[in-house]
Amino acid sequence: MTVSGEGTADVALTCMRCLDEYCEHVQFTIEEELHPDPGFAHRRGTDGFEVDDEVHIGPNHVLDLGEIMRQHIVLHLPLKPLCRTDCPGLEEMHPNG
Ligand SMILES: [Zn+2]
Repeated sequence: MTVSGEGTADVALTCMRCLDEYCEHVQFTIEEELHPDPGFAHRRGTDGFEVDDEVHIGPNHVLDLGEIMRQHIVLHLPLKPLCRTDCPGLEEMHPNG
């Protein structure tokens, strides 16, 4: 079973320069190959299918995508979050202290 789709999320991050909170708009594409077993799902990892306790398929075969989405969002978060690319940072915003 292949699950694919696109999504967007707004994530509150802290700018590494001015330490202000800002909203990062994250776009992500989900492509997962899942082996639908009730109770848990096998995700295809580097070594083939592996058990992933964090992905749940309910008794009605409803796949809970919450954890998959969360992992994709985290993957797309910037390593050095900036509220804007030319953010001057704390020192330049408060030159006198
Ligand atoms: Zn900033």
